[in-house]
Amino acid sequence: MRTTDPGDAARIELLLAELRLPAIKLVWASLAAQADKEGWPAGRFLAALAEHEIAERSRRRLERHLAEARLPPGKTLDSFDFEAVPVISKAQVMALAGDAWLNNGANLLLFGPPGGGKSHLAAALGFALVENGWRVLFTRTIDLVQRLQIARRELALEAAIAKLDKFHLLILDDIAYVTKDQAETSVLFELISARYERRSLLITANQPFGEWGKIFPDQAMTVAVVDRLVHHATIFEMNVESYRRRAALERKRSRGRPPTHATITANA
Ligand code: ADP
Ligand code: MG
Repeated sequence: MRTTDPGDAARIELLLAELRLPAIKLVWASLAAQADKEGWPAGRFLAALAEHEIAERSRRRLERHLAEARLPPGKTLDSFDFEAVPVISKAQVMALAGDAWLNNGANLLLFGPPGGGKSHLAAALGFALVENGWRVLFTRTIDLVQRLQIARRELALEAAIAKLDKFHLLILDDIAYVTKDQAETSVLFELISARYERRSLLITANQPFGEWGKIFPDQAMTVAVVDRLVHHATIFEMNVESYRRRAALERKRSRGRPPTHATITANA
C-alpha cells in the first residue's frame, strides 16, 4: 500500500495554510490514509476534500450570520404557538420564512398589544431566514435610532445607513417606543426612505399607524413613511390577549381552580 511521503505531508500543511483551506488542512491526513488503504481513485479523494471544505465554509457562514443577527435566544417558529394567534396561519408564516419577498425589498409589519407575540414571531422569522441563507439584524428601534443619531452628529449618517444594506432584513422592534422628544428621529425617516423597494424591514409596534404622528417630527414625514412602508407590505394585526397573561391563567385553571375564580397576579 502506498502512503503519503513525510516530506509531502509537511509541504501540504504549508500549502493548505497559504491557500487558506483550514477545513481541508484538518482532515486531509486521515482522509488520505483512508484513501490509500481503500485504494480510492485520485478524483474521489479530491472531491471528498473539496466537499468537506465547502460544507465547513457554509457552516461557519451560518454561525457568523447568526451571531451578527443578534436575535433574542430561544424564539423560534417551533416554539411559537400559532393557535394563540388565530389571525395568522402557520402556512402564511412558513411562506415568509422561505420566500423571496426579501428580493424585492418588501416589508412585514406586526401590530398588536404588548405580550401578543410580536417580538417572538419577528425573531423566529429572522432565525428561519438566516438559516435559509439571508442576512438579518434584529434591533430595538430605539437602539438603532440612537446609533444613527450619533452617526449624523459625526456627519456619517449616509455611510451608517449604507452599511446596514448588507442586511437583507432589518427587524425594528417596537418602533412606537421612539418618540420625537428624542432629538432628530428623522434619522428613522432617512433609513426607511433609503431602504424603500431595495431592502426589507420587519417592524413591530403596539399601535398601528394612527399613533405614528408621535414618532416622526411632522405630519408630512409620518405620511411619507407610512406610504413607503405599506407600498409592498404584509401586515399582521395580532390583536390577541397577552400570551404571558393567558399562560398564567391556564396554569391556574389546570391546578383545578374554576376559571371564574382565576385572578391576575403580579407575576402574570
Ligand atoms: P410582544 O413583542 O408582542 O410584546 P412577545 O413576543 O415579547 O410579545 O411575547 C411575550 C412572551 O410571550 C414572550 O416570552 C414570548 O416568547 C411569549 N409568547 C407570546 N406569544 C406566543 C406564542 N404565540 N407562542 C409562544 N410563546 C409566545
Ligand atoms: Mg415586543
